[in-house]
Amino acid sequence: MSEKLFSRAKQVIPGGVNSPVRSFRSVGGTPYFVARAEGPYIWDSEGNRYIDYVMSYGPAIAGHCPPQIIDAIQQASGNGTSYGAPTLSEIEIAEEITKRVHGVDTVRLVSSGTEATMTAIRLARGATGRDKIVKFSGHYHGHADSLLAAGGSGVANQGISGSSGVPASAVADTIVTPWNTIPDLDSSVAALILEPLPANMGVVPPKENFLTELRNLCDNHGVLLVFDEVITGFRLAEGGASQWYGVTPDLWCFGKVIGGGLPMGAYGGSSDVMSNVAPLGDVYQAGTLSGNPIATAAGLTQLRLLDASAYERLEIGAKSLAEGLCAAFNSAGIDAVVPQVGPILSIFFTSQIPTNFDEAQEAAKNGKYAEFFHAMLSRGVALAPGPYEALFPSLAHTEKIISETIEIAHEAALEIAQ
Ligand SMILES: *Cc1c(COP(=O)(O)O)cnc(C)c1O
Repeated sequence: MSEKLFSRAKQVIPGGVNSPVRSFRSVGGTPYFVARAEGPYIWDSEGNRYIDYVMSYGPAIAGHCPPQIIDAIQQASGNGTSYGAPTLSEIEIAEEITKRVHGVDTVRLVSSGTEATMTAIRLARGATGRDKIVKFSGHYHGHADSLLAAGGSGVANQGISGSSGVPASAVADTIVTPWNTIPDLDSSVAALILEPLPANMGVVPPKENFLTELRNLCDNHGVLLVFDEVITGFRLAEGGASQWYGVTPDLWCFGKVIGGGLPMGAYGGSSDVMSNVAPLGDVYQAGTLSGNPIATAAGLTQLRLLDASAYERLEIGAKSLAEGLCAAFNSAGIDAVVPQVGPILSIFFTSQIPTNFDEAQEAAKNGKYAEFFHAMLSRGVALAPGPYEALFPSLAHTEKIISETIEIAHEAALEIAQ
């Protein structure tokens, strides 16, 4: 059935998928086609059930198909799907975001994380009158031309360095620098953009005080510090990575969790910086579906489910999963590390947690991840089909589900050890 659907898909969709990482290219085999999902589970088109750790790559933090979000979507959609005029629910979600993230005074809604980062860069350039941007290798900021260079996630998975179709002129002002090493900045640089907790080259945490040092460095050179919190926003804590690490950037980018499973992103910052955005200022950004009423209803409902106790449960779950996976690899005699920060974790089949993209790539190239991926999938656990992706346990991943996963991991680890 999957084979049949995949060949049918390949007739009409490039590679059969609408986002490259879904293609299974880096693990081999045929992708499962999802028929439905609920709580921690997905069911494929053949009726097989899997405990899911892909969770839409992050958005489904409350579990799949939470009744509150489905209700909110049904109610909102009964009133219409898009108007091209402002709505109350846009104010409500913007209020919710600014309340949670200290330092975000105003926020503009867009339709994806890519749009958020792309616009944050334009805004940083507009606000500073400078052209250059600095990014870290292995950090993924969506697929806008100027940010694809040395990207993580699918860009890394597919072994493409950046992308063809990006003219040299589009990346002429992009400087790529290694993570966890203090970069060179000067007064020609508009923005330093980063994932404060990188999770698209596997999870590669910042060294102690690294983010504070970057904050000081940016201040010294008048460079805007941009946190791409598309993964970490509303996931690490109510206030995301800026709260978790106690470092305040100038601009934030959001996505994933913020839309409750519908297409939404956002960028925000101080009123001062944000006043450069049209119609107040001359940095242009627009969107037919921006602030879409169904997406705002879903996103707002999801954010309201995420209180302090929710973050505590997410972290406890992720911690026991990380420990359980480590124990499984240990007892099978497999070299592996499972970096975990709050509710985010990933697996590297190596003996030390990588500290930058070179080390992450070195760790990923032994092919062990693909073996483990298939050993888990055949036992009913769906990990992301690529060694650089994180695991996203949700509020629906109860203690019971996590222990079940760990038991399965013990079997899978023994299989790949042989
Ligand atoms: C997913 C992601 C993006 C891109 O978001 P899309 O909604 O896929 O466009 C940008 N930055 C980070 C850190 C991400 O993880």
